[in-house]
Amino acid sequence: GRLSADPILLKGIVLSFGGVRAIDGLDLQVEPGQVHGLIGPNGSGKTTTLNVISGFYHPEAGSVTLGTAPLPMDAPQTRAASGIARTFQTPRIIGESTVLQNVMVGGAINGKGSFVESLLALPRHRHDEAMLRHDALLALRCVGLAGLAEVRADRLQHSELRFLEIARALMVRPRFLLLDEPAAGLSGDEIHSLGSLIRAISRQGTGVLLVEHHADLIFEICDQVTVLNLGRELAAGTPAEIRVHSEVVSAYLGS
Ligand code: ADP
Repeated sequence: GRLSADPILLKGIVLSFGGVRAIDGLDLQVEPGQVHGLIGPNGSGKTTTLNVISGFYHPEAGSVTLGTAPLPMDAPQTRAASGIARTFQTPRIIGESTVLQNVMVGGAINGKGSFVESLLALPRHRHDEAMLRHDALLALRCVGLAGLAEVRADRLQHSELRFLEIARALMVRPRFLLLDEPAAGLSGDEIHSLGSLIRAISRQGTGVLLVEHHADLIFEICDQVTVLNLGRELAAGTPAEIRVHSEVVSAYLGS
Protein backbone atom coordinates (compact mmCIF):
# COMPACT_ATOMS: atom_id res chain seq x y z
CA GLY A 1 0.00 0.00 0.00
CA ARG A 2 0.83 3.67 -0.16
CA LEU A 3 3.09 4.96 2.55
CA SER A 4 1.74 7.42 5.09
CA ALA A 5 2.22 11.14 4.69
CA ASP A 6 1.52 11.52 8.40
CA PRO A 7 4.35 11.93 10.88
CA ILE A 8 4.74 10.05 14.14
CA LEU A 9 3.92 12.64 16.79
CA LEU A 10 4.91 12.37 20.43
CA LYS A 11 3.42 15.03 22.68
CA GLY A 12 4.24 15.54 26.34
CA ILE A 13 5.42 11.98 26.91
CA VAL A 14 6.16 11.12 30.53
CA LEU A 15 7.37 7.68 31.64
CA SER A 16 8.95 6.69 34.96
CA PHE A 17 10.70 3.61 36.27
CA GLY A 18 10.32 3.25 40.02
CA GLY A 19 9.66 6.94 40.50
CA VAL A 20 12.53 8.07 38.26
CA ARG A 21 11.44 9.88 35.13
CA ALA A 22 13.14 8.27 32.14
CA ILE A 23 11.09 10.45 29.78
CA ASP A 24 10.06 13.80 31.15
CA GLY A 25 7.73 15.72 28.86
CA LEU A 26 9.10 14.80 25.45
CA ASP A 27 7.76 16.14 22.16
CA LEU A 28 9.08 14.53 18.99
CA GLN A 29 8.01 14.54 15.35
CA VAL A 30 9.32 11.91 12.94
CA GLU A 31 8.48 12.67 9.31
CA PRO A 32 7.91 10.02 6.64
CA GLY A 33 10.75 9.85 4.13
CA GLN A 34 13.23 11.42 6.53
CA VAL A 35 16.02 10.09 8.69
CA HIS A 36 15.66 11.44 12.22
CA GLY A 37 18.61 10.97 14.55
CA LEU A 38 18.10 10.58 18.30
CA ILE A 39 21.28 11.18 20.27
CA GLY A 40 22.26 11.97 23.85
CA PRO A 41 24.29 10.51 26.71
CA ASN A 42 23.65 7.07 28.21
CA GLY A 43 20.45 7.05 30.20
CA SER A 44 18.97 10.09 28.45
CA GLY A 45 15.91 8.10 27.34
CA LYS A 46 16.66 7.15 23.73
CA THR A 47 15.79 3.44 23.93
CA THR A 48 12.81 4.19 26.16
CA THR A 49 11.53 6.55 23.47
CA LEU A 50 11.78 3.75 20.88
CA ASN A 51 9.94 1.46 23.29
CA VAL A 52 7.15 4.00 23.69
CA ILE A 53 6.75 4.38 19.92
CA SER A 54 6.85 0.64 19.28
CA GLY A 55 4.28 0.01 22.02
CA PHE A 56 6.49 -1.90 24.46
CA TYR A 57 5.99 0.79 27.08
CA HIS A 58 2.89 2.83 27.81
CA PRO A 59 3.50 6.43 28.81
CA GLU A 60 1.91 7.81 31.99
CA ALA A 61 1.11 11.02 30.19
CA GLY A 62 1.17 12.33 26.68
CA SER A 63 0.11 10.97 23.31
CA VAL A 64 1.62 8.95 20.49
CA THR A 65 -0.16 9.49 17.18
CA LEU A 66 0.27 8.96 13.49
CA GLY A 67 -0.80 12.37 12.25
CA THR A 68 -3.98 12.86 14.23
CA ALA A 69 -4.77 9.16 14.58
CA PRO A 70 -3.81 7.63 17.92
CA LEU A 71 -1.58 4.59 17.57
CA PRO A 72 -3.13 1.50 19.09
CA MET A 73 -1.99 1.39 22.69
CA ASP A 74 -1.78 -2.36 22.93
CA ALA A 75 0.66 -4.98 21.74
CA PRO A 76 3.84 -4.24 19.79
CA GLN A 77 2.48 -6.65 17.14
CA THR A 78 -0.33 -4.21 16.45
CA ARG A 79 2.18 -1.42 16.02
CA ALA A 80 4.05 -3.59 13.54
CA ALA A 81 0.80 -4.21 11.66
CA SER A 82 0.21 -0.45 11.53
CA GLY A 83 3.57 -0.06 9.83
CA ILE A 84 6.06 0.62 12.60
CA ALA A 85 8.99 -1.80 12.58
CA ARG A 86 12.10 -1.83 14.75
CA THR A 87 15.41 -3.46 15.47
CA PHE A 88 16.96 -4.08 18.87
CA GLN A 89 20.27 -3.13 20.47
CA THR A 90 20.89 -6.85 20.90
CA PRO A 91 19.71 -8.56 17.71
CA ARG A 92 16.83 -10.95 18.34
CA ILE A 93 17.17 -13.93 16.07
CA ILE A 94 16.28 -17.60 16.03
CA GLY A 95 19.76 -19.14 15.96
CA GLU A 96 18.79 -22.60 14.79
CA SER A 97 16.73 -21.25 11.87
CA THR A 98 18.26 -20.14 8.60
CA VAL A 99 18.90 -16.52 7.76
CA LEU A 100 16.06 -16.69 5.22
CA GLN A 101 13.61 -18.15 7.75
CA ASN A 102 14.48 -15.40 10.22
CA VAL A 103 13.59 -12.81 7.61
CA MET A 104 10.38 -14.60 6.56
CA VAL A 105 9.16 -14.36 10.18
CA GLY A 106 8.97 -10.59 9.69
CA GLY A 107 6.54 -10.91 6.79
CA ALA A 108 4.39 -13.52 8.49
CA ILE A 109 3.11 -10.80 10.86
CA ASN A 110 1.20 -9.26 7.97
CA GLY A 111 -0.05 -12.47 6.40
CA LYS A 112 -3.85 -12.29 6.23
CA GLY A 113 -5.34 -15.58 7.24
CA SER A 114 -2.08 -17.39 6.75
CA PHE A 115 -2.34 -19.10 10.13
CA VAL A 116 -5.65 -20.75 9.27
CA GLU A 117 -4.46 -21.51 5.76
CA SER A 118 -1.42 -23.21 7.15
CA LEU A 119 -3.59 -25.25 9.52
CA LEU A 120 -5.58 -26.47 6.53
CA ALA A 121 -2.47 -26.74 4.32
CA LEU A 122 -4.34 -25.02 1.49
CA PRO A 123 -2.60 -24.34 -1.83
CA ARG A 124 -3.14 -20.62 -1.17
CA HIS A 125 -0.79 -20.95 1.76
CA ARG A 126 1.89 -22.49 -0.41
CA HIS A 127 1.48 -19.55 -2.74
CA ASP A 128 1.83 -17.12 0.18
CA GLU A 129 4.83 -19.04 1.44
CA ALA A 130 6.47 -18.75 -1.97
CA MET A 131 5.75 -15.01 -2.05
CA LEU A 132 7.12 -14.62 1.46
CA ARG A 133 10.26 -16.49 0.44
CA HIS A 134 10.64 -14.34 -2.63
CA ASP A 135 10.22 -11.12 -0.64
CA ALA A 136 12.61 -12.34 2.05
CA LEU A 137 15.28 -13.10 -0.55
CA LEU A 138 14.85 -9.60 -1.97
CA ALA A 139 15.09 -8.11 1.53
CA LEU A 140 18.32 -10.04 2.06
CA ARG A 141 19.61 -8.71 -1.24
CA CYS A 142 18.85 -5.14 -0.08
CA VAL A 143 21.03 -5.60 2.99
CA GLY A 144 23.78 -7.55 1.21
CA LEU A 145 23.12 -10.94 2.82
CA ALA A 146 21.55 -12.85 -0.09
CA GLY A 147 24.57 -15.16 -0.25
CA LEU A 148 23.92 -16.32 3.32
CA ALA A 149 20.20 -17.08 2.97
CA GLU A 150 20.50 -20.79 3.73
CA VAL A 151 23.07 -20.47 6.52
CA ARG A 152 21.98 -21.03 10.12
CA ALA A 153 21.56 -17.62 11.74
CA ASP A 154 23.79 -18.51 14.69
CA ARG A 155 26.70 -18.84 12.25
CA LEU A 156 26.51 -15.15 11.36
CA GLN A 157 28.87 -12.51 12.64
CA HIS A 158 27.52 -9.84 14.91
CA SER A 159 27.58 -7.20 12.18
CA GLU A 160 25.70 -9.52 9.82
CA LEU A 161 23.00 -10.02 12.47
CA ARG A 162 22.42 -6.26 12.53
CA PHE A 163 21.75 -6.29 8.79
CA LEU A 164 19.59 -9.41 9.18
CA GLU A 165 17.40 -7.55 11.68
CA ILE A 166 16.93 -4.71 9.21
CA ALA A 167 15.99 -7.18 6.44
CA ARG A 168 13.38 -8.70 8.74
CA ALA A 169 11.99 -5.28 9.63
CA LEU A 170 11.67 -4.41 5.92
CA MET A 171 9.30 -7.35 5.44
CA VAL A 172 6.40 -5.40 6.99
CA ARG A 173 6.83 -2.61 4.38
CA PRO A 174 7.36 -0.21 7.27
CA ARG A 175 6.03 3.32 7.15
CA PHE A 176 8.45 3.92 9.99
CA LEU A 177 11.56 2.05 10.97
CA LEU A 178 13.07 2.44 14.44
CA LEU A 179 16.75 1.48 14.61
CA ASP A 180 18.44 1.06 17.99
CA GLU A 181 22.21 1.53 17.59
CA PRO A 182 22.47 -0.31 14.28
CA ALA A 183 26.13 0.70 13.83
CA ALA A 184 27.33 -0.74 17.15
CA GLY A 185 30.17 -3.18 16.51
CA LEU A 186 30.34 -2.44 12.77
CA SER A 187 33.53 -1.63 10.87
CA GLY A 188 33.97 1.64 8.99
CA ASP A 189 33.03 0.03 5.67
CA GLU A 190 30.00 -1.63 7.20
CA ILE A 191 28.86 1.67 8.73
CA HIS A 192 29.17 3.24 5.30
CA SER A 193 26.98 0.49 3.78
CA LEU A 194 24.52 0.89 6.64
CA GLY A 195 24.30 4.63 5.97
CA SER A 196 23.59 4.04 2.27
CA LEU A 197 20.96 1.44 3.14
CA ILE A 198 19.19 3.77 5.60
CA ARG A 199 19.16 6.60 3.04
CA ALA A 200 17.76 4.23 0.39
CA ILE A 201 15.02 3.11 2.78
CA SER A 202 14.04 6.70 3.57
CA ARG A 203 13.95 7.57 -0.14
CA GLN A 204 11.17 4.99 -0.52
CA GLY A 205 9.07 7.11 1.85
CA THR A 206 9.80 5.29 5.11
CA GLY A 207 10.55 7.51 8.09
CA VAL A 208 13.58 6.30 10.02
CA LEU A 209 14.23 7.04 13.70
CA LEU A 210 17.88 6.32 14.34
CA VAL A 211 19.31 5.97 17.85
CA GLU A 212 23.06 5.97 17.38
CA HIS A 213 26.32 6.76 19.15
CA HIS A 214 28.34 7.17 15.97
CA ALA A 215 28.17 10.94 15.56
CA ASP A 216 29.69 10.76 12.06
CA LEU A 217 26.88 8.53 10.82
CA ILE A 218 24.24 10.75 12.43
CA PHE A 219 25.59 13.92 10.90
CA GLU A 220 26.12 12.31 7.51
CA ILE A 221 22.71 10.77 6.90
CA CYS A 222 20.12 12.54 9.09
CA ASP A 223 17.66 15.16 7.92
CA GLN A 224 16.78 16.07 11.51
CA VAL A 225 18.48 15.42 14.83
CA THR A 226 17.01 15.53 18.33
CA VAL A 227 19.39 15.61 21.29
CA LEU A 228 18.01 14.18 24.52
CA ASN A 229 19.18 14.87 28.03
CA LEU A 230 17.42 13.58 31.17
CA GLY A 231 14.43 12.46 29.13
CA ARG A 232 13.91 15.85 27.55
CA GLU A 233 14.85 17.59 24.33
CA LEU A 234 18.08 19.52 24.77
CA ALA A 235 18.26 20.61 21.15
CA ALA A 236 16.68 19.80 17.78
CA GLY A 237 17.44 20.78 14.23
CA THR A 238 19.35 19.86 11.13
CA PRO A 239 22.79 18.27 11.50
CA ALA A 240 24.33 21.62 10.56
CA GLU A 241 22.39 23.36 13.34
CA ILE A 242 23.15 20.68 15.92
CA ARG A 243 26.86 20.61 15.13
CA VAL A 244 27.23 24.23 16.17
CA HIS A 245 24.75 24.16 19.08
CA SER A 246 26.99 25.26 21.93
CA GLU A 247 25.38 23.16 24.69
CA VAL A 248 25.46 20.06 22.53
CA VAL A 249 29.05 20.62 21.52
CA SER A 250 30.27 21.16 25.05
CA ALA A 251 28.26 18.31 26.56
CA TYR A 252 28.40 15.51 23.99
CA LEU A 253 30.63 16.10 21.07
CA GLY A 254 33.63 16.75 23.25
CA SER A 255 35.28 19.48 21.21
P1 ADP B 1 19.43 5.59 26.67
O1 ADP B 1 18.83 4.71 25.63
O2 ADP B 1 19.48 7.03 26.25
O3 ADP B 1 20.76 5.11 27.16
P2 ADP B 1 17.32 4.56 28.33
O4 ADP B 1 16.08 4.92 27.61
O5 ADP B 1 17.82 3.17 28.18
O6 ADP B 1 18.47 5.59 27.93
O7 ADP B 1 17.14 4.84 29.88
C1 ADP B 1 16.62 6.05 30.40
C2 ADP B 1 16.54 5.95 31.90
O8 ADP B 1 15.56 5.01 32.27
C3 ADP B 1 17.81 5.50 32.57
O9 ADP B 1 17.94 6.18 33.78
C4 ADP B 1 17.60 4.03 32.78
O10 ADP B 1 18.34 3.56 33.86
C5 ADP B 1 16.12 3.96 33.04
N1 ADP B 1 15.51 2.71 32.55
C6 ADP B 1 15.38 2.33 31.27
N2 ADP B 1 14.75 1.16 31.17
C7 ADP B 1 14.48 0.76 32.44
C8 ADP B 1 13.82 -0.38 33.02
N3 ADP B 1 13.32 -1.34 32.26
N4 ADP B 1 13.73 -0.42 34.36
C9 ADP B 1 14.21 0.57 35.14
N5 ADP B 1 14.82 1.65 34.67
C10 ADP B 1 14.96 1.76 33.34
